[in-house]
Amino acid sequence: MQRKILLIEPNYKNKFPPVGLMKISTYHKLLGDDVVFFKGDIKEFIIDRIVNQCVEKLNKLEGEYEWKYFYDTIKEYIKTRRNVCLEKLPLESLDSKRLLVSWLEYFKDYYWKKDYLLYPEWDRIYVTTLFTFYFDITVNTINQVKGLVKKDGVLNVGGVLASLQPEEIEKATGIKPHQGLLYHLDEGNDYIVDSLPLDYTILDEVDYKYEMSNAYYAYTTRGCIRKCKFCAVPKLEPHYIDYIPLKERIMRVNEICGERANLLLMDNNILASKQFDRIIQEIIDCGFGKGSKYQAPDELAISIRNLEDSINDRAYVRKTQSLLFEFYRSIKDPDMSFKVFSILEDNKVLKYSTSTKKNLLKAYDEIAPFYKASYKSKKSGNGKMKVVDFNQGVDARLFTPHIVDQLSKIAIRPLRIAFDNIKTTDQYVKALRMSADAGIKEFSNYLLYNFDDKPEDLYQRLRINVELCEELGVNIYSFPMKYHPVFGEYSHNRDYIGVYWNKKYIRAVQAILNCTKGQIGRGKSFFYKAFGKDESEYNELLEMPESFILYRYFFEWLNDRYEICTKNWRKCWMKCESTMSDDDWKALLDYIHKDEFGIDSLSQFSDPHVLELLKYYKNFRSDIITKGTKLYELKQEYDSNPIMISRRH
Ligand code: SF4
Repeated sequence: MQRKILLIEPNYKNKFPPVGLMKISTYHKLLGDDVVFFKGDIKEFIIDRIVNQCVEKLNKLEGEYEWKYFYDTIKEYIKTRRNVCLEKLPLESLDSKRLLVSWLEYFKDYYWKKDYLLYPEWDRIYVTTLFTFYFDITVNTINQVKGLVKKDGVLNVGGVLASLQPEEIEKATGIKPHQGLLYHLDEGNDYIVDSLPLDYTILDEVDYKYEMSNAYYAYTTRGCIRKCKFCAVPKLEPHYIDYIPLKERIMRVNEICGERANLLLMDNNILASKQFDRIIQEIIDCGFGKGSKYQAPDELAISIRNLEDSINDRAYVRKTQSLLFEFYRSIKDPDMSFKVFSILEDNKVLKYSTSTKKNLLKAYDEIAPFYKASYKSKKSGNGKMKVVDFNQGVDARLFTPHIVDQLSKIAIRPLRIAFDNIKTTDQYVKALRMSADAGIKEFSNYLLYNFDDKPEDLYQRLRINVELCEELGVNIYSFPMKYHPVFGEYSHNRDYIGVYWNKKYIRAVQAILNCTKGQIGRGKSFFYKAFGKDESEYNELLEMPESFILYRYFFEWLNDRYEICTKNWRKCWMKCESTMSDDDWKALLDYIHKDEFGIDSLSQFSDPHVLELLKYYKNFRSDIITKGTKLYELKQEYDSNPIMISRRH
């Protein structure tokens, strides 16, 4: 018997799609089950399910109308219970009005009285989990969907957080989660869930857009040969598997969804694989050799084909509607634009909520001549470069001439070489030089900080990257990434402070990164300005009031113009440092490093120099943006100053 399966990703922000759920979707579809994926507000999901049931019922009772066209009104009625909504429905002229109204009332009560909890719809619900600092939102989601599974059904919780903190999840939800990779789900079949291809179609069932959407996602290995203290991989994937076939999975995606531009490999330590050459050859065979180009497939044609073949109606109704609308928006010719708009309007497919499969196919038939002509004229061109991205980074300690030679054969961009620890500088620099010699020009890395590193280590790693860029003529984009523990007291939030760090320094680094948009690329002068030209300037920046970091040029421009300026803060700082006893100075630094500059806490200080210094630590943002303040006026003057404008750009 066909089972109803619900896949849920909690509504947190994440870049990459839930590959575990995508495999589970494939598994259940292979067994003939009906699978639905959702990410978003669970309450909205529940109400949409009820509205759809209501529409279906009304269509059965009264075929004169397609009730889907009144979806938004029906939803508003069920959600708000306002009778005025009923007046917007075409009920008056119908003999069946009383019957229809009674069903509308029934579904309204079904929602408000939570009757859906008495008659749960789902045989199985799977909730995936991710970062431990998303603990609260994940637990809320699990608790929200618990009542939606049938009494004899199963709620499965799995994924990263569930594997790392199963007891905590069980305590907060009463559900015992699955830990680690998922191999077998049911007796009676041999499918290994973790090895199944991903069902990409489910991603089009939701509004949420993953950052890396035009990509194949895959693992060609599992686990890692190392056990770095800060890393969850040894716990999540304790056994190293050195080869997982790739080609067949890529071909399957091409068949159903069309070709993708990027190959995103999520391997944790691919260079450790004894079958590395085989993996590289497979990447090349999949069309990702060095210099390969991507020609985008006709997404609308694929979407229509999949709609006709009923591959995943929930996904392809949404996708087809959005592509048709996108096509309409791209038309420059007013005549054609008017004609296409009229077709969309007549078929009620201007928005997703009123679109039906039948009408989308009909609208496409009418629009196809315009669309095909326009697609043909756009298709010319050489296409863009394909990209292979080992997005978890590769291990600098494993670089050899042979490995670099192999890497240089594929369309890798950027090559992410891990540089998590200043102690691996020699291996890192060597790996980078070898790669640059082999012709690889684009690099990137996440620089872990706030673990057992010192703040200066971050500065030095960034400096090394900036200098290597210049020396080797390459691009290295560095992304400093704050360490968050995956176990213990701070694992459910982002408040952990490493032994050599403090809250003020963390906020200072984040404020600098705010100004550099989170990444540091090429350009020594840019780097020296952002992070200081040496360690001593960097250390001064870490101590600097946050408003002064965020509005660096402005507060420097204020020097000799206004008392609240960088120069006066520096003077005040030096005065305190030179006149205070060691103990008092330490107490003041401890206070500043806590980064909590409330008026109450100031009462512990009486030294006028200290009170003067602490004045600079006020948050000046609201003064800067509030009309009538002195800082607002000065900022306006600064913003219109042509020299300052040219400095900023
Ligand atoms: S090498 Fe990378 S994946 Fe392996 S344990 Fe260390 S940080 Fe984790």
